[in-house]
Amino acid sequence: SAPRQPDLLDGLDPEQRAAATAPRGPVCVLAGAGTGKTRTITHRIAYLVRSGHVAANQVLAVTFTARAAGEMRTRLRALGVPGAQARTFHAAALRQLRYFWPRVVGDRQWDLVEGKLRLVGQAAHRAGAGTEPEVLRDLAGEIEWAKASLVGPDDYPAVAARLRRDTPESPERVAEVYRTYEKIKNDARLLDFDDLLLHTTAALEEHGAVATEFRDRYRCFVVDEYQDVTPLQHRLLDAWLGDRDDLTVVGDANQTIYSFGGASPRPLLEFTRRFPEAVVVRLERDYRSTPQVVELANKVIGAARGRPAGSRLRLVGQRPDGAPPRFAEYDDESTEAAAVARRVRELLDAGVSASEIAVLFRVNAQSEVYEQALTEADIPYLVRGGERFFDRREVRQAMAALRSAAADAPAGPLVPQVRRVLAGVGLTDQPPAGGAARERWDALLALVELAEELAGTVDGATVGHFVGELEQRAAAQHPPTVEGVTLASLHAAKGLEWEAVFLVGLADGTLPIQHADGDDVAVEEERRLFYVGVTRAREHLWLSWALARGSGGRRTRRRSRFLYGLVPEDHPAARVPRGLPKATGTKARCRACNGPLMATLEIKLGRCASCPSNLDEDLLERLRAWRVERARELRVPAYVVFTDATLMAIAEQRPTDDRALV
Ligand code: ATP
Ligand code: MG
Repeated sequence: SAPRQPDLLDGLDPEQRAAATAPRGPVCVLAGAGTGKTRTITHRIAYLVRSGHVAANQVLAVTFTARAAGEMRTRLRALGVPGAQARTFHAAALRQLRYFWPRVVGDRQWDLVEGKLRLVGQAAHRAGAGTEPEVLRDLAGEIEWAKASLVGPDDYPAVAARLRRDTPESPERVAEVYRTYEKIKNDARLLDFDDLLLHTTAALEEHGAVATEFRDRYRCFVVDEYQDVTPLQHRLLDAWLGDRDDLTVVGDANQTIYSFGGASPRPLLEFTRRFPEAVVVRLERDYRSTPQVVELANKVIGAARGRPAGSRLRLVGQRPDGAPPRFAEYDDESTEAAAVARRVRELLDAGVSASEIAVLFRVNAQSEVYEQALTEADIPYLVRGGERFFDRREVRQAMAALRSAAADAPAGPLVPQVRRVLAGVGLTDQPPAGGAARERWDALLALVELAEELAGTVDGATVGHFVGELEQRAAAQHPPTVEGVTLASLHAAKGLEWEAVFLVGLADGTLPIQHADGDDVAVEEERRLFYVGVTRAREHLWLSWALARGSGGRRTRRRSRFLYGLVPEDHPAARVPRGLPKATGTKARCRACNGPLMATLEIKLGRCASCPSNLDEDLLERLRAWRVERARELRVPAYVVFTDATLMAIAEQRPTDDRALV
């Protein structure tokens, strides 16, 4: 029987412990954000290894981002289990493919695609499709979706039609671009990311000896963020498993944010159908965030429509009280960014470390104004999304330069030598003003810091040692930490947490994003993204939006529809913008029809907007439309109070004064 592992299991609550110590076999943890899913599987791996149930090198854990994988490896090391693999699907497949490739394909060499859009551009040109940057991006996205969904070019038109996909060109034309892209790529002996998974799957499915060797080597599989696994990743997972069932999955259907990319929470929710004997654990305690943040998260996800059965979990905060989430509205994006930079500065001054602060946005284009504002405020930052540190051009250049410097470099202190070499690839003394140049500089500086670390731990470390260390890290996809405020898209923030989080640009049209409008399924995915964002914060959460794009533009925007009902009643920004009323709890009834009265104006008149009255026609129309929309959204009879000022403004056809700086 297993020895007791007090130090390991004391850090888990009873449910987490049940999942961590379940016997080998199928295990499923279904739980909300911050409940300790990732912690539980990390402890499970450590427990199984340390109690002798499985050898560390027989474990393969897959997770979503390189950073999450790196954090899992760090945690495993801290738990005394250094040998277990934690990787992204792609990194795991890449490694396996390198190993098996010669046996499967012979000595044919291949390379990874760099500059995918350029290839898609060539294909689009040959196939007679549009080649504008937006079209190419959409085409690339569509090809990715098809490959992740296991749909080939021939089947694409029928599948796209059946699923009513919003295609950038006619489905037949997209299929032609897809076909041509594959051909160009194959002719040039290039593989894209999805090919890594496709080829690895094929190697396992079609080569018995490869499958046998692989399955002999890996015996225990763990998948984090299982709600966002695509059919292609699923097929690979099945090829890994064969007919075995030693699989632990954890996920939160409410955090499905890649269904546009082909992912589906169904395998998570139907896990017990596939493995009826599975141990299923649900977690409710939220250990990450203050009860104030948890309450907001519950409201956000509580308003979601069409949640599948099994995904209705309510988070219960475990941490001490903190500050309430703060809301702020600004004239334009630059004002918003400048205000965020000021708040960041206050946090830094109060002793919060820069790496514990994140600014999260919906689309990467929003990053720039924040990069500028942080640069102006002299605050270091790093942009996430491009996770693959060792694939960065300047890092590859730096490694090449270091390699040639290492071949018999004079002895002497390591750090000045590294600095000298890196100066040759663009490391200046002073950081550049911002943007991409600053990011490159930060990446190079991170290498210098690694060298400092090495020099501090290994006496007489040489450039050769340093190159060895870098190569090891590159193989393990273990990027150095770049100290700075994180700027990241909501997608890239999944699974991560910070002490302070700024959710910015929460305007309708950005979140939910414009093209989701009118598509209920897409709007719900946007809402889940918002939930992911809210639940990244441990302590401080700021939510903000701007009424105009850029700087000093016309105020044409309004705050995200997801914020209605969240902004506290007494908050200046809670005042109703432009005729959109807010819901409260009055229960007055219409004298004429006994229907609920939803506005103070109705209450004053004792008549509802549905009854004939002397109310202004336009106002009536707006009230009616609003009532329908709002009641549908809440799925309950809704009641409303307008503030008098807002009512007057609506009646007089004026915009309401809803500006507020917090
Ligand atoms: P997400 O859905 O966002 O990926 P998660 O469910 O994976 O979240 P974790 O990241 O594992 O959650 O845990 C969230 C935070 O709570 C971490 O800081 C973790 O260390 C902490 N935590 C989890 N379980 C416990 C526990 N039993 N006691 C104390 N802290 C815990
Ligand atoms: Mg997690």
